[in-house]
Amino acid sequence: MSNSRRGFFRELASAVASARDATAEPGPPPPPDLTDEEIARYSRQLVLPEWGAAAQLAVSEASVLVIGAGALGAPVALYLAGAGVGRIGILDDDAVELSNLHRQLLHFTPDIGAPKAESAAAKLRYLNPGIVVEPYQVRVEADNAAALLEGQDLVVDCSDSFATRYAVNAACCAARVPLVQAGVLGMSGLVMSVKPGRTACYRCAFPVEPQDAPRCADAGVLGPAAGVIGSLQALEALKLLTGVAPAIADGFLQVDLAAAEFLRVRVRRRGDCPDCGAL
Ligand SMILES: [Zn+2]
Repeated sequence: MSNSRRGFFRELASAVASARDATAEPGPPPPPDLTDEEIARYSRQLVLPEWGAAAQLAVSEASVLVIGAGALGAPVALYLAGAGVGRIGILDDDAVELSNLHRQLLHFTPDIGAPKAESAAAKLRYLNPGIVVEPYQVRVEADNAAALLEGQDLVVDCSDSFATRYAVNAACCAARVPLVQAGVLGMSGLVMSVKPGRTACYRCAFPVEPQDAPRCADAGVLGPAAGVIGSLQALEALKLLTGVAPAIADGFLQVDLAAAEFLRVRVRRRGDCPDCGAL
């Protein structure tokens, strides 16, 4: 990177920090300046007019919980780590299996048998040693979701179970923690962002939990389809953390990759929603 460009980013970062200082009543300390290493590492996103130093500092201060280190969790965690999200919790209680490897890009053949959360965390630390990665070898249930959300700025639900999805939605609504939901099966999927109390939640969109829904092991899934949906989830996460673009809120994006069609479906908040109706 040229000295003039590096100087530009340094000035931009200082200006952002100063502006925050000027408006801050007693509050958190100002964000640290970007180091030369950070300026080089993030240069291709820093140069985006929508991004810049302000967004970089925002993600560097963020804590994000990624639920599931599988087909969706892999691209989500990789892109968030690459983008410089300061603290990433990666949560999964499964071990790596041979049948995972065609779509779960954080795990390699020598990882078979290893806990997925640990396997994922090791790769993410290789990718970006400047962030904190915390593996959690637990499963989210209705009774532990609230504790797991403590201190999180955002949750990205990459689980493959409807029960988990509804439990995470309820916990995020109760704690008012923004959430990105998604699911993938075969060559299709959907993505939805939720700002609890402000936009429709997952249960507003899908009030009744599906019973006997087909599972990945039975219906199958193509690796790149999971990659597309997971990448969309990661993009939503970065939008919610920084505000650089509107998230897919008050609705969801339905993705049919066999037909190469994307459909935006609008959803209204429901006053009788048991998760967000009272917010
Ligand atoms: Zn709702």
